[in-house]
Amino acid sequence: MVFEGLNEKFQNIFSQLKRKGKLNEKDIQEVNREIKLALLEADVNFKVVKQFTKNLSERAVGQEVLNSLTPGQQFIKIVKDEMTTLLGGEIERMDFVDGRQNVFMLVGLQGAGKTTTAAKLANLLQKEKKFKPLLVACDVYRPAAIKQLEILGNELNIAVYSEHDVKDPVGIARRGLQKAVAEHYDLVIMDTAGRLQIDETLMEELVNIKEAINPTEILLTVDGMTGQESVNVANEFNRLLDISGVILTKLDGDTRGGAALSITYTIGKAIKYIGTGEKLTDIELFYPDRMASRILG
Ligand code: GDP
Repeated sequence: MVFEGLNEKFQNIFSQLKRKGKLNEKDIQEVNREIKLALLEADVNFKVVKQFTKNLSERAVGQEVLNSLTPGQQFIKIVKDEMTTLLGGEIERMDFVDGRQNVFMLVGLQGAGKTTTAAKLANLLQKEKKFKPLLVACDVYRPAAIKQLEILGNELNIAVYSEHDVKDPVGIARRGLQKAVAEHYDLVIMDTAGRLQIDETLMEELVNIKEAINPTEILLTVDGMTGQESVNVANEFNRLLDISGVILTKLDGDTRGGAALSITYTIGKAIKYIGTGEKLTDIELFYPDRMASRILG
């Protein structure tokens, strides 16, 4: 199960709390220490952990907990609140535009799930929002990626724009968009190239594609199985591209929670969708409060 380790630890901490009856400041400190350890073990970024537990302490030593008849319950409620905030607070809806193409650019490291997510997203928005989507294959360095997108498009009955033997992703993106305008596709999803690590050429290429197509959303696809190293990656993509949001993939795996809990606080951008499996329908809107409930149990 996703976040299993973290969930188990929080369950333990909470059941101790419930047993205790009255709480004093020392109890709160002790609980906070355990929460800190649990989060660090789940590979949550230490700055995030520090801020999170600081917020908990500040709220918990206030009257609302110490004088409460059910202090344990009160504290648990605060943890849930703070975790929801950490995950982005209110759900941030996607902004769709009228009167021009919605153009999404999917970026991220190789293997994060971009190609799969591009197809999942096109399918979801075609079904739910009645868009007429066009997928554009801009990952020219991994020939299999173009084929992969074509196969997925075929399976879902979604049009794919690709150019074989052309090594000019900016040109492909531009021509893909031209096709969308000419043929009245109102949603264009560009699958871009990734690398195993960030490199300058890749970033420059993504900046050039961004300039050429003026996307309405730049969505960073992040492998949810990764921990806080994903934060460095996300920071770099955000610095150069000013991304509009994050899609966390592979949340069906046995992820510890590091990426999910660190990313929004660190880069200040919302998680918009989550990938929850290998099937093409395994994508959902992200709800911070639901995720907090899953983590805390
Ligand atoms: P890309 O290199 O970023 O384009 O990554 P791909 O789309 O090729 O995905 C890499 C692998 O991750 C593939 O085997 C996908 O099936 C898998 N994958 C993508 N999203 C998910 C997800 O939400 N859950 C699971 N279990 N696997 C996923």
